[in-house]
Amino acid sequence: MQKLFINGEWQDGQDHRVRKIENPATFDVVDEVVEATAPDMRRAVVAAQQAQKSWRHVPAVERGKVLHDIARAMREDRARLSELLTREGGKPRIENLDEVEWCAACLDYYAEIARNSHGTSIPPVAEHQVNFTIKEPLGVVGAIAPFNYPLLLMMWKVAPAVAAGNAVVIKPSELTPLSTLRLAQIGFSLLPKGIVNVVTGTGLDVGEPLVSDPDVACVAFTGSTAVGTRIAVKCAEQLKRVNLELGGIDPLIVFEDADIDTAVQGAAWARFLNAGQVCTSAKRIYVVESIAKEFVERFVKHAQTLTVGNPMDGDTDMGPLISSAARARVEDQVKRALESGAKLLTGGKRLDPLGNGKGWFYAPTVLTDVRPDTPVHCEEVFGPIASIQVVKDGAAAIALAAKSEYGLGANIFTKSIKNAMTAMHEIKAGTFWINDPLTDNDAAPFGGMRKSGLGRELGEEGLDAFRETKHVHLDYAGEKKSYWFPNKTRRGEIPSDT
Ligand code: NAD
Repeated sequence: MQKLFINGEWQDGQDHRVRKIENPATFDVVDEVVEATAPDMRRAVVAAQQAQKSWRHVPAVERGKVLHDIARAMREDRARLSELLTREGGKPRIENLDEVEWCAACLDYYAEIARNSHGTSIPPVAEHQVNFTIKEPLGVVGAIAPFNYPLLLMMWKVAPAVAAGNAVVIKPSELTPLSTLRLAQIGFSLLPKGIVNVVTGTGLDVGEPLVSDPDVACVAFTGSTAVGTRIAVKCAEQLKRVNLELGGIDPLIVFEDADIDTAVQGAAWARFLNAGQVCTSAKRIYVVESIAKEFVERFVKHAQTLTVGNPMDGDTDMGPLISSAARARVEDQVKRALESGAKLLTGGKRLDPLGNGKGWFYAPTVLTDVRPDTPVHCEEVFGPIASIQVVKDGAAAIALAAKSEYGLGANIFTKSIKNAMTAMHEIKAGTFWINDPLTDNDAAPFGGMRKSGLGRELGEEGLDAFRETKHVHLDYAGEKKSYWFPNKTRRGEIPSDT
């Protein structure tokens, strides 16, 4: 049974409620955690607020040293952390080893970048003046994470926030809290007490109290557009800073000049990674007519070679979906797509790779003849469903790709600079990938346009999300100014014709 991590201590929940965390591949109970309530969340916010008072004065270089220590601890613990990520979330172990390393790299990045900038010097407008800005931490940051990359999407908030001098209260997904609690034990415990706290529980029980707490200065959220919108409204009521990383229905275009082999494998990876449970999955695939037959045939064959199975096995390409509800939603979306005229080329069914009826597995699925108004092209499908639409030419593909309420990412495969640059300018997306889908870079900003979010994580923007600017104006001569009262000394400045 895992307790709450508040003020550097392992604490019980006030109501002694417990949640079992189930392995989505085997249905085994991995562990139990506290199902916390609002008073538990309040304790964490108070601890964070207290701790931040001194943390904000610690030099950034010293804060950075602790972040490097946490990165080192994560790398040393990668076997256990990746195992927990796999058992609670169902993503293949090999990808969870990557996730642990990406988190450590993110810590190292912000440890350094945060001691690199502290504001700017501005040219004064008069003699004896000095003007500069300093970047101050916000105070207590609420970090709310989703289930699909539990450590990484939490770390994109915690590393910059802590590096900038804030304290954080983390609310992990109620489905995948164990890896975050493990990280608290082996990593966050290296920080002064209260700088990072972890409170487990549901969105309604502890997420909302975190968002509404007047002592929380900023909410950094990754999750669905529906929940993010609700959080934005609550933050607006208190004029609280908010960073929202939300859903997406990303397009992927295969132009006529693309290398088909590369595009087939790249598109399959972009759609089936983590069983399609990635915010930036290629959820709408557009293929130009002249190469469509060959692309689709090879894509289907490739999808059929993917190994679906126990995510702890090294050979597994795709594990289960996260829950029964997640699988039921995907099944319903496929059913509605077929009813509206889409054709099923492979998959479209549950799988039982462990042979015991357990696990929320669903086959890699390929649909074609998907019309733009089909549910799978206008709702976010969080599952392994590749929806392919054949289009006349590149211009038609760009026009369809650009037509969306969302704007998280976009992918294209082409060798033509003209295609690449035209599509890049026409399609609204926070990240535009050319021939290399879904690749992140700690030093480059990540986030969404339109209904995919507000603000950016990673890069310097990701640090500024947790700092605010103070302008300092100094007159070192300390003399009286000619324009101070009384105004009668300046009467003569008024033009005589008024
Ligand atoms: P979700 O919105 O259901 O939950 C996300 C988190 O919010 C969870 O911790 C949940 O407990 C919490 N929550 C739920 N209701 C809340 C409330 N009223 N107040 C405060 N917190 C609340 O999302 P999910 O199912 O965990 O994740 C999948 C979604 O996340 C998809 O839409 C996906 O596209 C999106 N996502 C976006 C990004 C990105 O960077 N843009 C990355 C990953 C996932």
